[in-house]
Amino acid sequence: MTEATFDAIFDDLIDVNEELQSFLRILDGLLPQASLLLVNEAGVLLDGTRPLAFAQPLREKLVNEAKSTDGFVVGKTENDVRCHAVYLEKLSAVLIISCAAAPDDAWGPGSALATLLQNTIDLAMHRQEREMLVADHEQSVRQINILQQQHGKLIEDNYRQYRLNQDREKEYARKLESEIAKQTAELREANVRLEEISRLKSDFLANMSHELRTPMNAIIGFSELLSETPLGEEQLDYTRTIAQSAASLLSLINDILDLAKIEAGKLELEHLPFDLAEVIGNVAAMFKIPAREKGVVFTCKIDGNVPKRIMGDSNRLRQVLINLAGNAMKFTEQGGIDIEVAYEREAASRIFSRFSVRDSGIGIPADRVGAIFEKFTQADGSTTRKYGGTGLGLAICLQLVELMGGRLAVESEVGKGSTFYFVIPLEEAPAEIISLDEHKIAGLEKTARGGRILLVEDNAVNQRLASILITREGYKVEVASDGAEALEHLRHQPFDLVLMDVQMPNMDGMEATRRIRKIEADPDQKQSYVGLRALTQPLGIVGLTAHARKEDEAACYAAGMNGFLTKPIVKAKLAMILNEMMPQASCEKNTDPS
Ligand code: ADP
Repeated sequence: MTEATFDAIFDDLIDVNEELQSFLRILDGLLPQASLLLVNEAGVLLDGTRPLAFAQPLREKLVNEAKSTDGFVVGKTENDVRCHAVYLEKLSAVLIISCAAAPDDAWGPGSALATLLQNTIDLAMHRQEREMLVADHEQSVRQINILQQQHGKLIEDNYRQYRLNQDREKEYARKLESEIAKQTAELREANVRLEEISRLKSDFLANMSHELRTPMNAIIGFSELLSETPLGEEQLDYTRTIAQSAASLLSLINDILDLAKIEAGKLELEHLPFDLAEVIGNVAAMFKIPAREKGVVFTCKIDGNVPKRIMGDSNRLRQVLINLAGNAMKFTEQGGIDIEVAYEREAASRIFSRFSVRDSGIGIPADRVGAIFEKFTQADGSTTRKYGGTGLGLAICLQLVELMGGRLAVESEVGKGSTFYFVIPLEEAPAEIISLDEHKIAGLEKTARGGRILLVEDNAVNQRLASILITREGYKVEVASDGAEALEHLRHQPFDLVLMDVQMPNMDGMEATRRIRKIEADPDQKQSYVGLRALTQPLGIVGLTAHARKEDEAACYAAGMNGFLTKPIVKAKLAMILNEMMPQASCEKNTDPS
């Protein structure tokens, strides 16, 4: 709103002076013969028609008298003209009137002249009021018009401003949208790059796992074999040291690979039935003897309310408990170590159970409790020197427990001991499911019956090691160095089982397996393979790989294999799988292990 226009609202305001003048004008019209003066309460002349001469004191005197009298008072002008004065309360003024024609006595209170004059004054007053009202009304109309104009202008201004803002907002939204689209595209691109990096990392891990485990396989296997040959005491000691060092190196490799897998989000827990007491029993069995040798009491307790058979990843649970118990063992010189599984509560058909590993060892300083769960961190700098270790174990346990739905924590007091604990939800296994372990145990109970095994493996050291292990289990073994050679062997000789390495040059294990399955499905081709034509069932093929990932196992089955064994080959596992997979009516028993 412009100030000038708004100021117009206050134009033409009726002032008091105007009111008086209007009254005097009207009265003058009604009394054309009379002289009239209006004087304020202080005796100051306000206005008049036809001159009446008054000295100030004279006027004041008359005004005072009129103010204190109800009706007309008589007075004289300077030049001795008779006049009458009356106080007009409404106007806060005194009217002095001179009407020469009227006789003196005609002005008394109630007289016809006084009444007539009073009525004339009242009439003038009313007319003046009406005039004022009309003027007021006109002024209000004018003001309303101005306000309406201003209001319209305001609405117009506001609308213009609104449109302007809208345009600005649209422009802003457009810019924002294009910025978001740009950033989304950049993020998508970055995501693709990250996924690619993650895939490369995962492949690198898988390859590393293969590269590292293959030689470890040989070191562990051959030192195991070596220690079973006749050796002098010193040689036996060296051999055992090699085996122990290799075992701890393998455990470190496994730790690093585990951690990398967890960090890459590649570690998935199994969901299979297992016996909880069996897992705790395995852990106890590992530590009972070393504990006794150290003079430390080792106990285990499982609350009766915790389900016996549960669903989950028994290997990972065992790994956590072994780690915690191993630490307890390492840092405890006297007293005891207890593993306990206690019932906590039940919710959503899960039994929340508390696993704790308590020891009476050296304890952990309060300010180091947070740090020990970080990777490569130990409670104090002297730990490695004194106790060994890498500081990886707890970092892995922490993550594994989180994957199981719990949180690993510790309560500890220096010199008194530590309790590591976690609460995880356990799902009771349905009664009808037979656990894999039970399956394996059932397999073990079968008696070994011998048979012919084709070992397909490119690495010469591994060929030797696996051949020795297989022969020692009472089977005959033939070796092929790749898939193509394996097919050649099958063309000329019968076999009961194939142990097929997955990664090989020339033709890998997957391709060889696919070809074998294809030949089996084609009767004409099958006839030209001595190793396949007599078989009524598909040939048993066990994949051998250092890749321990679930997807690697799944890929083996997808290629047509019907068994899976990870490297390094563990003697007991090899025996179990060979026994399990060897066909019932197998070939002759090899009685001459060489
Ligand atoms: P490592 O034992 O290989 O060093 P961990 O991650 O398993 O790695 O443990 C980290 C550190 O936490 C240990 O080095 C040790 O200082 C401390 N620690 C773990 N468990 C215990 C325990 N039971 N008693 C005392 N200190 C412990």
